[in-house]
Order: sequence, then C-alpha cells, then structure tokens
Amino acid sequence: MNLFQKFRDGLTKTSARLAGEIKRIIARSPGKLDAAALDDLEAALIAADLGVDTAMRIVEQVRRSGHSDVLAVARQEIERELFVGPAPGLSTGTDGTSQRLVLPRAAQPPTVVLLVGVNGTGKTTTTAKLAHFLKGQGHTVLLAACDTFRAAAIEQLKIWGGRTGCEVVAGQYGADSAALAFDALGAAISRRVDYLLIDTAGRLHTKANLMEEMKKMRRSLEKRLPGAPHEVLLVVDGTTGTNALHQAREFHQALGVTGLVVTKLDGTAKGGIVVAIARELKIPVKFLGLGEQLDDLQPFDPQSFAAALFAGADAGEDRPAKS
Ligand code: GDP
Repeated sequence: MNLFQKFRDGLTKTSARLAGEIKRIIARSPGKLDAAALDDLEAALIAADLGVDTAMRIVEQVRRSGHSDVLAVARQEIERELFVGPAPGLSTGTDGTSQRLVLPRAAQPPTVVLLVGVNGTGKTTTTAKLAHFLKGQGHTVLLAACDTFRAAAIEQLKIWGGRTGCEVVAGQYGADSAALAFDALGAAISRRVDYLLIDTAGRLHTKANLMEEMKKMRRSLEKRLPGAPHEVLLVVDGTTGTNALHQAREFHQALGVTGLVVTKLDGTAKGGIVVAIARELKIPVKFLGLGEQLDDLQPFDPQSFAAALFAGADAGEDRPAKS
C-alpha cells in the first residue's frame, strides 16, 4: 500500500464528508460556481477544520482561476501551505534501500527525540509506533519512560517496549524526570543505540509546572550531550480541533517544537486541522497517527495528504503518490 492509500484510508471520515459536500456544490452549480456556491465551498472547508485563512485562500484561487477545477486548486493550495521547511531527504537503509529521512540524524549516535504533549493525545502510543518505525528502518532504539508522574504510563511504555523489542529505561513513580532523562541518555551513549525516544509527562499540578519540567528535561539532556535533543516532537490529538492548535502554540513557545505528530485522524471528519496548525505555527508535520496499531504511524507527505483529503470527489482517487 503506498502512502497515498494509507492516508486515504486513515482520512476516510474527513474526505468522505468534504468530498460529498464539494460534489454537491459542483453539481448544483455546473460550469461556473456562483457566489452562493463559493460561500458553500468556504463553509465546507472550514467545517473540515482547515482554518478560515486557508479556506478563504482556496475560494479566492477558485474564483480567480475561473473555477476550472475546484479540487485541483484546493489540493495545490493545501500542498503549498503544508510545505514547511525543506522536504525530508533520503538516506540509505541497512538493507540498501532508499528511505525517507523524516527525523534528523545526529552526526554521532544517539539521536535524541523528546516526545511532548498533554495527556491522552497518544504520546506513549506514538513513542512505541515511532520505535517500531525506526526499527523497521534497521535502527536500534532505546526508550525512556520519563512520565514519572503517572505510574500507568511507565507500565504502558514497558509493555510497548516488550512488543517492539526495545529496552526501556524507567525509574520509580514520582522520580525526578530530568535526572532520569540524563541517565537514559548516558545509557544510550554507552550502548551506542541509534535513537533514544523519551516519553514525557502530559500533566502536572499546573500547566506552568509542566512547562518548567519540560524545560528542565531539555537542559539536562543538553548538559549530557550538547546538541540534544535533536528533535522535539509535539503530539496533538487531531480530534480536538482548535484545542490542538492552542496546545501547539503553548508548547512551541516554551520548548521550541521542531516537529508535529497529529494523532487519531482516523476518528475525525476534521482532519484539516493538520493544515491549520502547520500554517499558523510554521512547524513541519512529521507523522500522522491513523490508528491504534504499531503500523498506524505514517511519515507525513504534503502531496499524498492533500490528495487523500479530497479522495473520492473526482476520478483522481487513485492518483499515484510517492511512498
Ligand atoms: P498519552 O496519555 O498521550 O500517552 O496517550 P496514549 O498513548 O496513552 O493514548 C491514549 C489513547 O489514544 C489510547 O487508547 C490509544 O490507543 C489512542 N490512540 C493513540 N493514537 C491513536 C491514533 O492515531 N488513532 C486512534 N484511533 N487512537 C489512538
């Protein structure tokens, strides 16, 4: 299954609604969309959480381009908004095949990835999925259970470690998470693993506490290995719409997020939130969560995503995409 098909399947709820709406609008106003049809188009795009600015831009483009091909215009605009920073490069995997380099690779291993986000967004599951993804590319991975605020989170990560065949560095419930991250990094260095993935707390007594804790963890990693963490991945729940956008803003301000993972897109008709967040914060979307299984984390690709968002609304349904 190529990336487009995976996105199409995962985004069925969003695209079914959006495509249905667009088809109806085009059918009602054949040839040239009239003013009422353009208003309806804007409303349909906003309902998919694409954001008012993006919706207006798409409608404006449709108007300007003489309303020739609504879907092509919409896809193009969305692709453009999603291109944040350079496209991921390619590297050669251990099996000799070419791989998309979605995450940065430190000059010297380990590459340290900090996963942050509020509770329930899918942070621990994403940590496990990411470990599975990296192992699939032939890398060695160590996991660190630094959400010491929740005993269940430590246990959950240990279970995922067993399933993915990754060792887990864990401390006691209530332990100092920055000290634990420091030790986990020491273990990653001495074991010469390729990636250290750090799961963190998503809730403390107050939000200010949480941000302070995250900053402390960041400093502690930097102290142990200058340049670490190499990636700060913010995990947001795509079903929470604009709430996800607010969270992203806060975490970004406090920590300098370098990449986004938007989860649970399989469960929402508002998958357009991916575009709204990327556009507003100018942070690249690195992965999408499209289900609860280990395989359900997909490296992001703007072209396939934009095509999948409108899949089913025209004959371009099987448009091939890079995988
Ligand atoms: P955390 O509190 O942020 O660590 O969240 P968890 O990793 O414990 O996930 C919370 C719930 O969301 C679990 O039931 C996961 O199975 C579920 N979940 C995580 N990612 C996805 C996803 O992409 N799709 C769906 N449908 N469920 C997900």
